Amino acid sequence: MAKNLPAGAIRFGCHVAAIHPAADPGNHGAVLTTHDGSIITANVLIGCDGSNSVVAKYLGLSVPKSTPRAFLRGFTRYPHGHPFGDHFLRLRGKGFFVGRSPVTDSLVSFFVACPNPPCADDVTRDDVGAMKQLVLRTLQDSECPAEIVEMVRRSDPESLNVVASVRYRPPWQVALASFQRGAATVAGDAMHAMGSYIGQGGSAALEDALVLARALSSRAAGAGGGRVLSEEEEVEVAGCAAAAIGAYVRERRLRVARLSLESFTVGTLLRARSVVVKIVCLAILGLLGNQALAHTSYDCGRL
Ligand SMILES: Cc1cc2nc3c(=O)[nH]c(=O)nc-3n(C[C@H](O)[C@H](O)[C@H](O)COP(=O)(O)OP(=O)(O)OC[C@H]3O[C@@H](n4cnc5c(N)ncnc54)[C@H](O)[C@@H]3O)c2cc1C
Repeated sequence: MAKNLPAGAIRFGCHVAAIHPAADPGNHGAVLTTHDGSIITANVLIGCDGSNSVVAKYLGLSVPKSTPRAFLRGFTRYPHGHPFGDHFLRLRGKGFFVGRSPVTDSLVSFFVACPNPPCADDVTRDDVGAMKQLVLRTLQDSECPAEIVEMVRRSDPESLNVVASVRYRPPWQVALASFQRGAATVAGDAMHAMGSYIGQGGSAALEDALVLARALSSRAAGAGGGRVLSEEEEVEVAGCAAAAIGAYVRERRLRVARLSLESFTVGTLLRARSVVVKIVCLAILGLLGNQALAHTSYDCGRL
């Protein structure tokens, strides 16, 4: 991909500090200022800058909400192979929620969440050893299956990290927010941060990329052909891109709103003490087909 782009088109280490609309009112592009003071003029702006997105703020989206919740994430190696095949495990128990995903025949990635962690206050991101001990105690006290306890116990210390809070956009915001400003949009967590309750945030980000690339290639294909554009051509490219971004947002809206609703509902269910809230959550999940993991059979089409 890189060799098809003009020299200098890819820049690393550009931390975007501020964004303003292009000065020319007919131009849909944006002007970015980086932390080191450089200015980048963009005909098209796609913010994949995560849940604390600067581009999302430029679009007028509010800051995602945050729930204190301690996650321990890491990898465990099984030198003689693991018996889990390619099965993704989600397991909820009293006081914990585990996700386990095989990476290779001998390596799995996992996370363990403690919904009401006494650890959130006294275990910091850097104190992964203490967090691991706390998670092990929680799992043992909850009579979690031995293979899960063993997975955490044998995890690679270098791979462990702690996530101290979960950021998410409420589903109603994802359903209603404007994800477009001229030729600027967002994708991935910048658009639909949803915590990790259903393990779909990263997968949905890949779907975003595919749908956006398809929309851009069908409406703005070949624009400029990699050469330096005249001012009029730049305005035209940004106009085509704005139309493509509109199509992208329309196509993604329902899918990401639904995933956000499902993730939000699972999170609410895990924290709920009220029986009524639990029943409502279970009813919503039933309607969404959560038990059959219906969200995993979505087909976003081909490029
Ligand atoms: C515990 C846990 C478990 C999870 N499990 C799963 C799972 O099983 N399956 C799944 O699909 N998803 C899972 N997720 C969600 C997944 O990790 C995220 O949805 C995914 O990483 C989002 O990717 P992204 O590229 O949109 O954002 P990020 O991965 O956050 O990347 C954003 C990038 O933008 C850069 N950036 C930020 N600000 C700026 C700026 N101002 N200027 C320039 N660059 C900037 C950052 O440095 C970073 O490189 C999990 C999340 C958690 C916390």
